[in-house]
Amino acid sequence: MNEDADSIAERKMQFLYALRSKGVTDARVLGAMEAVDRGPFIKGLFSERAYEDMPLPIACGQTISQPSVVGMMTQALEVSPRDKVLEIGTGSGYQAAILSKLARRVYTIDRHRRLVHEARAIFADMDLVNITAITADGSFGLAEQAPFDRIIVTAAAEDPPGPLLAQLKEGGIMVLPVGQSDAVQHLIRVRKTADGLEYDEMRSVRFVPLLEGLGKDG
Ligand code: SAH
Repeated sequence: MNEDADSIAERKMQFLYALRSKGVTDARVLGAMEAVDRGPFIKGLFSERAYEDMPLPIACGQTISQPSVVGMMTQALEVSPRDKVLEIGTGSGYQAAILSKLARRVYTIDRHRRLVHEARAIFADMDLVNITAITADGSFGLAEQAPFDRIIVTAAAEDPPGPLLAQLKEGGIMVLPVGQSDAVQHLIRVRKTADGLEYDEMRSVRFVPLLEGLGKDG
């Protein structure tokens, strides 16, 4: 399908408008979301809906988050260009690609090898050379690269995993959904200060659960 330049520009404007109207107002975040095309992260039947503000199914029974949720989480993470960021839950790779525009280095982990491979191919196509994608159980973080300035978890746990809190730098921020997988979950932001951890609760959300071990495909 060949689209003309006008309809692409129009679609982009609508995409950014939807983000702004849902509270994504940070200029750097909007710039990153403008720069990264969501289309390539969605394959098959649903690819036509890539520019709608909707979560969509991806391989391995997982979902790519809704763009406005990606925007809110990224905004809450307050990423700066010097930051080393850890993401748990690569999924399609879309969130990691956004982060790669804002941070110095991004490590992203998924328990499904297939998702990691597919995401790596897209990162290479898009020349996003500051992302390292790893197949592992992300609940344990990535000790060899710790500590991290920022950590984002895009699957819901009942509580923030201890190893991730431990791998967050002092002054660092972690954003994650907490709650049971089939109940209401809340996005929370954790700041690590010299005096301990400060929590604040953001909006309610719905994410797939953070599961133990590797996915069936490896
Ligand atoms: N951030 C993704 C969406 C993630 S969906 C995007 O932008 O598309 C949640 C992902 O978390 C799924 O791909 C799932 O496989 C992964 N996941 C769940 N539990 C995990 C764990 N313990 N370690 C690593 N990844 C996990």
